[in-house]
Amino acid sequence: MPTGRQEAALWKRAAASYVDCFLCAHRCHVAPGKRGICQVRENVDGALATLVYGRVIARHVDPIEKKPFFHFLPGSRSYSVAAVGCNFRCGFCQNWQISQWPRTAAGAMPGETLAPEEIVSAAHRYQCASISYTYTEPTVFFEYARDIGILARQAGLKNSFVTNGFMTPEALAEMAGWLDAANVDLKAWQDSFYRKICKARLEPVKETIRRMHEMGIWVEVTTLLVPGQNDDAGDLKGIAEFLASISPDLPWHVSRYHPDFEMREPPATPLETLERAVEIGRGAGLRYVYGGNVGTMEDTVCPSCRATVITRLGFSVVERNLRGAACGKCGAALPLIIA
Ligand code: SF4
Repeated sequence: MPTGRQEAALWKRAAASYVDCFLCAHRCHVAPGKRGICQVRENVDGALATLVYGRVIARHVDPIEKKPFFHFLPGSRSYSVAAVGCNFRCGFCQNWQISQWPRTAAGAMPGETLAPEEIVSAAHRYQCASISYTYTEPTVFFEYARDIGILARQAGLKNSFVTNGFMTPEALAEMAGWLDAANVDLKAWQDSFYRKICKARLEPVKETIRRMHEMGIWVEVTTLLVPGQNDDAGDLKGIAEFLASISPDLPWHVSRYHPDFEMREPPATPLETLERAVEIGRGAGLRYVYGGNVGTMEDTVCPSCRATVITRLGFSVVERNLRGAACGKCGAALPLIIA
């Protein structure tokens, strides 16, 4: 049975009993007895340990649309799990109670102790088509996600990450063969936003999106629009053109922000800002741009004949007009992974 603490993956020994972690792009050089920036990996006697293996802080059965995924297993359920911790410190985090927990906690991490097999069997029991690693940052509970993910694949389930994308190429290489899909937050087009608001950097996130697409992992991207911070029209155009250069079929979700954690200002994103972002995305050549957290702008439309092929209400699929993964009206093949 998992205990919470076990030897981590993706690290190497350094001089003077330090260790170098290369799971995420912070690439922490960790002193003996200290933790990395994520606060869930610790140098124990010159070896790196993960403190969150098998420690589940949240698990729910969610519609896959809630992640959000609109082209990956639409209309299905996803068994969603998290451990505490994150390698970012976003001032507007909407799950900060669990993502930032380890910064204030010494010793053992909180959560139910569950073996990977128990997660996979629960996913089957609740008739889920996939397991999502979500709510906090799954990169920092990589070893647990990997062990669940491999078992899930063997059991006929798919796996998805909801991630900030701040992982290394070495970590991504370890996800080949079991990670099917990722919704990556591309939080802004300015590196200064990443440095100031998230205490991270932009470039590794862009690199992850590129590499995941090349690896055949299905990618959708989300940008939470924070008024006055990342919603400049030129910046949104930069994001949209970057995504379109990878693939015009890459779905982009532009979502409404609301004040949380350390950011009580500005107020929630106006609807007009979301509408403008959707237009910018389409203008850059993206075929699937969705407005999120507003209850409209969430239907999937066939780019060939403009028929609505998936109608959504909130996180529910209420109508499909599909033949397999093709448009039910004109028969055009669509970028959909159907359960
Ligand atoms: S996962 Fe990232 S933040 Fe955590 S110890 Fe490793 S390099 Fe540092």
